[in-house]
Amino acid sequence: MERTVYLNGEYLKESEATVSIFDRGFLFADAVYEVTAVVNGKLVDNDGHMARLQRSCNELQIALPVSLDEITLAQRALVEKNSMEEGAIYLQISRGNAGDRDFGYPENVKPTLVLFTQARKVIDSPKALTGMKVITLDDIRWKRRDIKTVGLLAPCMAKQAAHDKNVDDAWLVEDGYITEGSSNNAYIVTQDDVVVTRPLSNDILHGITRKALLELAEKEDIKIEERLFTPEEARQAKEAFISSATTFVFAVVEIDGVMIGDGKPGKISNKLREIYIDLAKKTAE
Ligand code: PMP
Repeated sequence: MERTVYLNGEYLKESEATVSIFDRGFLFADAVYEVTAVVNGKLVDNDGHMARLQRSCNELQIALPVSLDEITLAQRALVEKNSMEEGAIYLQISRGNAGDRDFGYPENVKPTLVLFTQARKVIDSPKALTGMKVITLDDIRWKRRDIKTVGLLAPCMAKQAAHDKNVDDAWLVEDGYITEGSSNNAYIVTQDDVVVTRPLSNDILHGITRKALLELAEKEDIKIEERLFTPEEARQAKEAFISSATTFVFAVVEIDGVMIGDGKPGKISNKLREIYIDLAKKTAE
C-alpha cells in the first residue's frame, strides 16, 4: 500500500511526489529535518520538535515556507490519511530549488517542505527488552551538530560500521570523550547511581527526548551530572542508555565488546523508559 505523503502543500501518493535535481537538499544537504514520534495516533513532544526546527532554520537563514502551526496540521493530516497508530513522522525543509548549482544562498527561492510517515512499533520495540550493543568510533562530523541538518553521511558510515561488526549502533568519540550516539544522546549510570550525560553545546544535538528525560529524572530524585565522560568510564559504568524521539530510551548492554552490568537493561534505564512512555502517552496530542 502506498503512503500518502506531503510535498509543498499537496497530499500525494509517495510514487507521485518528486523533487527537482536542483533542490539544494539534494545538491548540498542544505536542509534541516525533524522526527516526531506518534503514539495512539498522537504526536509526542511535538512543540519541542517545532521549536528546534525553527532554531535550525534560523541558524541557516532558511525561512519557513509555512507556519509551524500549518506544519503541525500537515503532520496530523498525514497520521490520519495513513491511519497510523504508532511510528514516526519525518519532516524536512530544504532551502529549495534555485534552478542551478551555486553555493551561495539564493534569493527569492521558496524552501521545499516534505513530510512522510513511518509506521512502526515504538513502545513494544524488541530492543527495549534486550538492550543495544554499541562500538565507539571517532566522531568525524562537522562542528555544528546542534543544527539538525540532513548532512548525515557520517552517521550513515557509523551505523554501517556498527552493522558490519554485528552490533546495533556506534557512540562517537572526540578528544577522548563520548559526544553522543550516531542518532541519539548517550548516557551512563555510575556505580553510585548518578546519570551522566554530556552538557549541551554545538558538539551534540540538543535532544528533545533528552530534555524531557532530565526533567523527569529530577522529579524522581535521580541524580544527574552533565559532564564529559570517556569510553573507558562508559565501559566500567553500572548502566548505559540512549535516548531519541523514536527509541525513547534503550539500554546499552555492551560497549566495545565489554558487557555493561549483568548484560541486561539496568534498573535506572528501565525506570526512565517507563516514566518517559507514561509521559508520552499522557501528553501526546
Ligand atoms: N543526537 C543525534 C545525533 C540525533 O540524530 C538524534 C535524533 N534525531 C538525537 C541526538 C536525539 O534527539 P531527539 O531526542 O530530539 O530525537
